[in-house]
Amino acid sequence: MLSERANRIALSPTLRINARATQMRGQGIDVVDFSVGEPDFPTPEVVKRAAKAALDANFTKYTANDGIPDLKQAICGKLERDNGLAYSPDEIIVSAGAKNSLFNVAMALYDEGDDILIPAPYWVSYPDQVKLAKANPVVVPTREEDGFRLQARDLAAAITPNTKAIILNYPCNPTGATYTREQLEEIADVCVREQIWVISDEIYEKLIYDGQRFVSIASVNDKIKKLTVVINGFSKAFSMTGWRLGYAAGPREIVAACSKIQSHNTSNATSFVQKAAVTALAECDMDVERMRQEFERRRNAIVYRLRSLPEVSCASPSGAFYVMPNVIRYLDREFGGAPIRNTYGLAYYLLKEAHVAVVPGEAFGTPAHVRISFATAMDRIEEGCRRIREALARLEAPRRLRPRALNNVVTKVAAYAETRPVVGLESRNALLEEASSHLAPDAYFEWNAAIAGIVVQLRTNSPHLADFYQENFYPAALEGDLEPHAVIYAVKDIPGREPAGLVSLETATGFAFNTAFYGQVRTLALQLASEAAARTSGALLAHCAALDVGGHGVLVWGGPGSSRTGLLAAAMREDGVRLVSSDAVLVRLGAAEPVADLIERKLYLKAKWVGKLPEIGKLLERSKLENMVVSRDGCTVDHPGDECPLDRGAAVCVEASGNGRVMLDPYWLGGAARHARRTVPRVAVLLARDPVLPMVQQLDAREASRILASGQLPGASGKPVPFANPHLAGLDAARSDLLRAQHERLFAATRVVLFNTAIGSTDAAAKRLLELCR
Ligand code: PMP
Repeated sequence: MLSERANRIALSPTLRINARATQMRGQGIDVVDFSVGEPDFPTPEVVKRAAKAALDANFTKYTANDGIPDLKQAICGKLERDNGLAYSPDEIIVSAGAKNSLFNVAMALYDEGDDILIPAPYWVSYPDQVKLAKANPVVVPTREEDGFRLQARDLAAAITPNTKAIILNYPCNPTGATYTREQLEEIADVCVREQIWVISDEIYEKLIYDGQRFVSIASVNDKIKKLTVVINGFSKAFSMTGWRLGYAAGPREIVAACSKIQSHNTSNATSFVQKAAVTALAECDMDVERMRQEFERRRNAIVYRLRSLPEVSCASPSGAFYVMPNVIRYLDREFGGAPIRNTYGLAYYLLKEAHVAVVPGEAFGTPAHVRISFATAMDRIEEGCRRIREALARLEAPRRLRPRALNNVVTKVAAYAETRPVVGLESRNALLEEASSHLAPDAYFEWNAAIAGIVVQLRTNSPHLADFYQENFYPAALEGDLEPHAVIYAVKDIPGREPAGLVSLETATGFAFNTAFYGQVRTLALQLASEAAARTSGALLAHCAALDVGGHGVLVWGGPGSSRTGLLAAAMREDGVRLVSSDAVLVRLGAAEPVADLIERKLYLKAKWVGKLPEIGKLLERSKLENMVVSRDGCTVDHPGDECPLDRGAAVCVEASGNGRVMLDPYWLGGAARHARRTVPRVAVLLARDPVLPMVQQLDAREASRILASGQLPGASGKPVPFANPHLAGLDAARSDLLRAQHERLFAATRVVLFNTAIGSTDAAAKRLLELCR
């Protein structure tokens, strides 16, 4: 339903922590809020009076799109006076907050395909703004030992032909890092040499400590000024966060583009707020300095306290109002047997157990730190630090062996590419040539799998694919001069090729190009094995799930959206129900009664399948994983309140892992009580989800095999159901006929029903399903 854009970004984690702290306070809990992102000082009285005067003078109408002239003039004056920067009013645009200014610049400057550099730790909105502009955020890590300052050599190393800009923020939220003129000169030199734009977010310029002077990078020289957009605002210096006022200063054409964008969005910043801002710039130097001094006092106090915590290190921030203690030594501890695991886990623990709200470092791209804001009164700082000390002391050394790091591989391509048939020997040979030419000997993996008695060999340059393949299938004993029955080439890093699956059934060859998503290779392997098995022994590789219910087999076919996963998971909660396979069994039709066998060593399951099983945490720790969402970055699910498993320190969010796969040993489900490798099919079930069909409808064998092939349900109202594996390719008329005949033979030996999952609850449907074979 939502746009792809909306799905690609997450709600700010700071806001989530804030919201949770507020909620707890609403329940009467005294929370020390170290997550705040705004000064706790009131807006200066003169500013309030100026706003009131503007209101009284009815200065309440639309203003010029890019800001009222007297404010733009005052901003030019400020930039000249404080920063030594000469701008004319047409190089200034006033917006509803610095965040709004940054967003305008993102829209005006970044394009699809542009890389935008973001030194980490970074303010949380930068990457998402870049993503909203369809560009790529490229994180450039900084080091704690460099005071979290970007080093010119690291910047130079991160630049590629696609790099368009860098977002530089100092004093930095969250690290407080600032730069001297010399350091800025080095950075500016790189940017000028490479012609990289600098978006310089200077919103914390007034909050700077230890007698340092703030230097704007735009003032370093004229060349860099022409490449810089300065962002600033009134939120932090004048304690005006809720007033929403910020500005951008930069080259005319960029400012004009921002103005066009703003004209179709917010129009102008609030009229009387702009008036008040003129006063803030003119009359509040003393208020700003008083606040700065208080923040410096608090900074000294909190750094002293945090450094006195056992096993915590803490750099002293030279600006802004945040500190980033390094808490890595606590991330392997436990509380009541539950592992802390990461800073999300630690933040959750501190909030629940110590009633202190801090923000996990992962949110800013640094997994060893938490962010603590000292924009709160001195006595709260003392109280918060005391609580943190006590809570950390209560954490226990891990009792069991440390949970294994998750064995999760994230692939660039995370879903099936279409598998197409290869027509003719010539095309197949050309593909073979192409594949072989990209299989470098020093990065080559080969493995022979025995699948339903067929030897399928994988040749690949992807260690991940080789690993999953070996895990998934039994090894084939392949002696010296024996040839495999089928070969799969899985080759990645071929320049300029789209991800693709290709299969030549005639020559028993499969190709997976430029995708390391394992499902692609598994489908090829199963299809090639199925083809050979059908030819040699007449066995059928059926694309269905299989349960064993007290010795009776239930085979279940269902297309996407048929609720098969939920139904089977519910059925498995009943006594005596054992899983054979989630999506493929080999059915031998030769004997008097058919038997269905699991032909894989391990099951390759969709994450949502596993999510419905008990003890999922343990299963995930033992299994090899693919494309599971293990951090907030890739998570698009907004869980209500406290429900986000990652925020609670869980290792993965199963719900968000739509493309996630788990390579699971079926015996881990509960041994032989929960898993069988073979069953005798008694009931075949075709699942449909339809508003008009009855819950259960008997089918005869011929009708059932026709429905399976065509997806056309008798008397149903919906579209055809894609029962057949959509990733199979190259089924010509003869093969389709053979498949249909094989299914008909299977169905003739079982009871076949069309089962409508649109009726009743999942649990009730599962019970009804099980009754069919009792
Ligand atoms: N940049 C940084 C680094 C910030 O921390 C913030 C506020 N947290 C902003 C910009 C946005 O400020 P404004 O309130 O002016 O939108």
